Amino acid sequence: MIVSDMHTHSSFSSDGRASLSDMVAAAKAIGLRCYGVTEHIHGDEPSLAQYGETDAAAYFACARALQERECGENFSFFAGGEYNYAPDPRALDYLVALSEKYRPDFVVNSVHNVDGAKCCHFSYFEGKSKQRAYGRYLEEVRRSLDAPYPYDIVGHLGYVSRSAPYADKKLRYDEFADLFDEILRTVIRRGVILEVNTAASNSGSEFLPDADVLARYFELGGRKISFGSDAHYPSRIGEKRELVCEQLAAIGFTEITVPNRGTHITIGL
Ligand SMILES: [Zn+2]
Ligand SMILES: [Zn+2]
Repeated sequence: MIVSDMHTHSSFSSDGRASLSDMVAAAKAIGLRCYGVTEHIHGDEPSLAQYGETDAAAYFACARALQERECGENFSFFAGGEYNYAPDPRALDYLVALSEKYRPDFVVNSVHNVDGAKCCHFSYFEGKSKQRAYGRYLEEVRRSLDAPYPYDIVGHLGYVSRSAPYADKKLRYDEFADLFDEILRTVIRRGVILEVNTAASNSGSEFLPDADVLARYFELGGRKISFGSDAHYPSRIGEKRELVCEQLAAIGFTEITVPNRGTHITIGL
C-alpha cells in the first residue's frame, strides 16, 4: 500500500479549497505516514500565472507551526512547493531566492506553460497537431530539468494531455520515445524522483505519466517514484493509490521515495 501523498494544495494556493489544517487532518485520518503540501509558487509574469501567487511568508509560517503540532512517530508532514517552471531568467532568479529564504522541505518542479500559453487552456492547442502540442510540452519539460533552483520531484509528466481537445488524448511513450528517453535518463542522472500524479482528468490515462512511460523509466534503471494526488480538497487526498500501487508493483517497483530536506526516505509498496 502507498502511505504517502506528496503533491497536494490547501487554500494557500488560490485554487485550493480547504485550510491547511483540514488537509493535514484528512491525510492523517486516511492513514498516510508521509504527507506533503505543495502550494503553487510562480515567479513568472502575472499574465501567464496559472493562478494567483501564494503568500509564501504566511504559508511557511503556518506550515512550520503545524509541523510542530502534528508530526509524530507515525505521521510526518512536509511543507513543500510546486514551482512553476518558466525559462525567463527573472522567474528563475525569483525561485532560487525563494528557496534560500524559506527552505521548503521539498520542491515539485512542474511545467504548466509552453511558448507563452497555458497548456491546460484550449488556446494552446489551436492550430497545433497532437504531435506538435505534446512535443513542445515535452521539450519544455526536458528544459525544466536544468532549472537552477533545487528540486526533488518532476511533477505530472504528461500534464498537457489533461485538457487536450484531440479524440485520442493519451500521451504514449511510443509516439515520443526519443524525448521521453532524454527526460527519463536526465531524471535518473540527476537523482531526482519521478511523480505519478492521479489528477489525470480526461487525459485518456488514469494517472500521469501512464504505465508505458513508467515501465520505460524502470527499464532504464529509474527506481525513484513519488505518489501525488494533486488534491485541492480533502476527499481527493490519496486518490487511486491502490491502483497506482498495483501498477507499479506489476512493473517491478518495490518502493516509494519521499524527499525531505535533501534526503530521501524509502517506503516499501
Ligand atoms: Zn501542477
Ligand atoms: Zn499541483
